[in-house]
Amino acid sequence: MAEPYLCPICRSNRTSFEIIFKLSREIRKDPETGEELFQADSMSVMLRNDRPELEVKCLTCGYTGYEGLFIKAARQGAS
Ligand SMILES: [Zn+2]
Repeated sequence: MAEPYLCPICRSNRTSFEIIFKLSREIRKDPETGEELFQADSMSVMLRNDRPELEVKCLTCGYTGYEGLFIKAARQGAS
């Protein structure tokens, strides 16, 4: 589902962004040394409500925040 973005900080950028995905990978650590004893082969994108949990970076002012803040700003800016 496509959603317009507007940066909530500079409120001028609706077009240029970077998208940051959170990746998770299962590991096992030695509790004494902190050494990683096992790493799963694959990483998976973290999901929230069946959508990738994204952060968005504004390429105009550099602000980075949750995608929802950018979507909310775009909706408020449109009304
Ligand atoms: Zn911005």
